[in-house]
Amino acid sequence: MAALAITSCTSKGVTENSADDFDYTVDRFADVEVLRYKVPDFEKLTPQQRILIYYLTEAALTGRDILWDQNGKYNLAIRDLIENVYTGYDGDRENTDFKALETYLKQIEFANGIHHHYSMDKFKPGFSKEFLMERIAVLPEDQKPEELETIMSVIFDPAVKPKKVNQAEGQDLILTSANNLYEGVTQAEVEAYYNALKDTTDATPVSWGLNTRVVKENGKVTEQQYKVGGVYSDAITKIVDNLTKAQQYAENDNQKAVIGKLIDYYKTGDLKLFDDYSIAWVEDTASQVDFINGFIESYDDPLGMTGAWESIVNFKNNEASHRTEVISSNAQWFEDHSPVDSRFRKEKVKGVSAKVITAAILAGDAYPATPIGINLPNANWIRAAHGSKSVTLENITQAYDAAAHGNGFNEEFVIDKETSDLMDKYLFITDNLHTDLHECLGHGSGRLLPGIDPDALKAHGSTLEEARADLFALYYLADPKLVELGLLDNPDAYKASYYKYILNGLMTQLMRIEPGKDVEEAHMRNRQLISAWVYEKGKADNVIELVKRDGKTYIKINDYEKLRGLFGELLAEVQRIKSEGDYAAGRDLVETYAVKVDPQLHKEVLDRYASLDIAPYKGFVNPVYTPVTDKDGNITDVTVTYEEDYLPQVLRYSKQYRTLK
Ligand code: ZN
Repeated sequence: MAALAITSCTSKGVTENSADDFDYTVDRFADVEVLRYKVPDFEKLTPQQRILIYYLTEAALTGRDILWDQNGKYNLAIRDLIENVYTGYDGDRENTDFKALETYLKQIEFANGIHHHYSMDKFKPGFSKEFLMERIAVLPEDQKPEELETIMSVIFDPAVKPKKVNQAEGQDLILTSANNLYEGVTQAEVEAYYNALKDTTDATPVSWGLNTRVVKENGKVTEQQYKVGGVYSDAITKIVDNLTKAQQYAENDNQKAVIGKLIDYYKTGDLKLFDDYSIAWVEDTASQVDFINGFIESYDDPLGMTGAWESIVNFKNNEASHRTEVISSNAQWFEDHSPVDSRFRKEKVKGVSAKVITAAILAGDAYPATPIGINLPNANWIRAAHGSKSVTLENITQAYDAAAHGNGFNEEFVIDKETSDLMDKYLFITDNLHTDLHECLGHGSGRLLPGIDPDALKAHGSTLEEARADLFALYYLADPKLVELGLLDNPDAYKASYYKYILNGLMTQLMRIEPGKDVEEAHMRNRQLISAWVYEKGKADNVIELVKRDGKTYIKINDYEKLRGLFGELLAEVQRIKSEGDYAAGRDLVETYAVKVDPQLHKEVLDRYASLDIAPYKGFVNPVYTPVTDKDGNITDVTVTYEEDYLPQVLRYSKQYRTLK
């Protein structure tokens, strides 16, 4: 429910970034640009906080192999093989096969496996099978892969494991998804298994399947838990070791208890303990240092049950948090004035805590590609009873902004200078506000009618949930309340964000999709759903126009106020669908608006993008933290540096944090 991906790579004008001589750009390959981010004010923390962060970052990096294995059964073996061939290569480095192998290595490191992190399609190696076989032949014996034949077919045969997560309506989503969350079971068997476990009268249900692999043992469907002594035991044991060290440097007793509960959960796999931990975590708003570490988001499970392992360590940016505190302290006003049916609104909004944070490390499913906003926990009943924590990662959005400056996007795609100037002036602040509203109010708004299964929308749940949160943000971005609260200084500022949203949803996000393919990823589906729906419903009043100029298509928004009204209407409908668990209506919305692509417009967008050479995807290398020790070897402080490049970093991680097999 919670990760908000970067919405596009538009140029956002914040002049203070352009004068900055920090080197943001690290690497560029395939469809990816790797950046680095700063950790401002790390030096203003206390040594104790810095040591706490150090052990939490170690706990974060230690989980890396878990995600690789979750993403695919052969991922770790293939990573080993390609890394060994690459690092042991002594031939001509200009050789085209070698260069293609290097690109493939960078791609799989970026995706934490052999499938694209966003499109879910398997990477096509640009080197020949013969080349790889030759290089394997000269590897030392202990580096030669077991199951060579299988591994070669997984790498090279396009028919083998073509898609990490398949969401195509009408197919067996488990049998056709390549990830490693299920084995030997069909979708029908898994659904029957969970239906038997779920008790719809339970007001505080655990998040079934969150930390398990589902398999068949002796003909019976059963779960294998991720825990110390279970699946991924070696990695989880080391995570627990680092958490135990971190605990000694906790800022206060509450934070110490939070870490303790997480350790207990990792040791037992007990999902009730995970809920206890989540409640303690959401209620700890006093600590400056904070972190996520666990099986969290379930986008990569076609049934939305199992969490992908991730970790983000961060600390609060006190100055910028003023913005989110204003929003969250007015949460009830926003809920009461939302355009949804009063039956679906929350009478009392509980504890929405929102802050702007500085990310200190990104790991697992949040590395190298990372969300820019997070809202957790995901369990609906905990959110209702205890509230949720919402964060905006501003040092990450700042790095995106700095790197995108002057990349030619506006000149190519924005209809006129007036709109482009408005975007230059207001997109950075309105995009950050969009993220704040999406995370801190949008996901937390509304309620389910009694007895409605939170998973009723099944495979379309993620898309519709993102749509709900985006629509809430879009609707309120244009509200005079934001000017009244002092968050915006111009009642027209929202138009910058509206224009970019529609441009992205109807056109520019198509640059991420290969010709002939559908829209698959939940956030992208959500953006197309919203944009295509308001375009169609606004046709009678000519709210949004597609204008042709010199053979190029431009978005023209003729009536921003009516557009806001349409966002409100769709918000009301999506909230109704969620509150009533109306699967059929949700599926129709998604299938009608979110999936199919106009091939002509798609081709045009790809051609125009190609002329700009902007990478569709971005991700980050982490800073390097180094402990300072006294003469007895005790850690007394921690320093941060930013010199490490992309490939050296991932290769180091593979060695230093190798925990599985
Ligand atoms: Zn979201």
